[in-house]
Amino acid sequence: EGNEGFVGVADTDFAEEEKRRVSQAAFQNVRQQLGKTYLPLINGEFVNTTTFVDSLNPSNFSEVVGKIGLISVEQAEEAMKFAKAAFPGWKKTPVKQRADILRKAAELMEERRAELSAWIVLEVGKPVKEADGEVSEAIDFCLYYAEEMERLEKGVIYDVVGETNRYIYQPKGIAVVISPWNFPLAIACGMTVAALVSGNCTLLKPAETSSVITAKLTEILIEAGIPKGVFQYVPGKGSQVGAYLVNHPDTHVIAFTGSQEVGCRIYAEAAVLKPGQKHMKKVIAEMGGKNAIIVDESADLDQAVVGVVQSAFGYSGQKCSACSRVIVLQPIYDAFVERLVEATKSLNIGETELPSTQVGPVIDANAQSRILEYIEIGKKEAKLALELPSPTQGYFIGPVIFSEVPANGVIAQQEIFGPVLSVIRANDFQEALEFANSTNYALTGGLYSRTPSHIQQAQAEFEVGNLYINRNITGAIVARQPFGGFKLSGVGSKAGGPDYLLQFLEPRSITENI
Ligand code: GLU
Repeated sequence: EGNEGFVGVADTDFAEEEKRRVSQAAFQNVRQQLGKTYLPLINGEFVNTTTFVDSLNPSNFSEVVGKIGLISVEQAEEAMKFAKAAFPGWKKTPVKQRADILRKAAELMEERRAELSAWIVLEVGKPVKEADGEVSEAIDFCLYYAEEMERLEKGVIYDVVGETNRYIYQPKGIAVVISPWNFPLAIACGMTVAALVSGNCTLLKPAETSSVITAKLTEILIEAGIPKGVFQYVPGKGSQVGAYLVNHPDTHVIAFTGSQEVGCRIYAEAAVLKPGQKHMKKVIAEMGGKNAIIVDESADLDQAVVGVVQSAFGYSGQKCSACSRVIVLQPIYDAFVERLVEATKSLNIGETELPSTQVGPVIDANAQSRILEYIEIGKKEAKLALELPSPTQGYFIGPVIFSEVPANGVIAQQEIFGPVLSVIRANDFQEALEFANSTNYALTGGLYSRTPSHIQQAQAEFEVGNLYINRNITGAIVARQPFGGFKLSGVGSKAGGPDYLLQFLEPRSITENI
């Protein structure tokens, strides 16, 4: 119901020479704009700040992608006041008009697809083919949520003799969006436009390392006609400005995607009633994963190897959906590891601007050292099956595979968020499922099998929000695979799914006796 029939936009076909040329031209164009300053947007004005931070290219950190003005807590308070002032007007704005702003934003993103991809590549080190897919996802979020809000607006009518009943939705009020760096355009855009189209005034605080791309999203929303005060771009320190907005008594909804640690803190802080606050806050938090793919003895190994490599090492494993454990049944274990290692060796690592590149750098120095620590732990608790070299300039880490990893080992339980894959041996399918379900997370999972009873059992017992059978486990498509997990992977309903907008809305039932 509702989302059936929604068709997303197509990714760029880089096999076409003309498309590759357009992409190269976009890189040249964007390179000429590197190092510019981006200011926060408060009440329709770009405002000056006292603090600035450089956003660097992770492939070459001597390259400053942009300078970001960070707001102070006082400016956060101002933004909140303007959001409150803009709310009554935005709430009354017809849904059609709000939805049309999203459609216009989608159109602008399609026009600027190559340029936006280039910004993503340069700011967060995502290989261009995946960056292009991300632009598609951002566009799809706009188009889908526009359609969804128009569906929900109709409400439900239940009339009986002498009485009419209408079930309708109204916006909650003020939404604070805290977006991650790993899908700097798609996820920031998705959470933001969901909040906006449902009638909430929205403040967007991006992850520091991806603030330039969110500044581009801001330019697009302005051009698409978002009224002043309704949407505000508020880059700032998470521990200061982020925390201030989360704790603010006028915040109604917090939409967050990021680490489990921060997500849990937001959930706790949002639960505390502040002086003057007359409502409870809604928290939507999309957190981590420790996703497993099970490969049983009946699997098509060619297919399984390709799917695991893609799921584990695409964007260097820096997706919540990434595969970081592969659980392989005893009879095929050794053959699988051997083929997995060979396939991983053939990955193209390095040049993020080339459509053939699959693995780029990790996001920053902190991430690099954290991942390297996990690799050291892995060397103590498991067998190193592969450690690929990587470019030395930039924050690169070559893909690493550990075999004979104990299912309860550190590298098999903790989210690493890097190109590190643990291969775990299971004696039978039941044990494989137990291992798969043994972490704190429940986000994505996969099964490669041609055994109907295994497929059936996985559907019933594999505890994940998104289960993929005989395919890779990343790259959920808006409306087709609504995305999100449970357990400590998050709270709230799935992005790109039919329940998502309800989280930004207050349902009301109106009865008239006639
Ligand atoms: N939706 C993305 C996917 O399916 C993952 C999002 C994330 O990493 O937060 O691959």
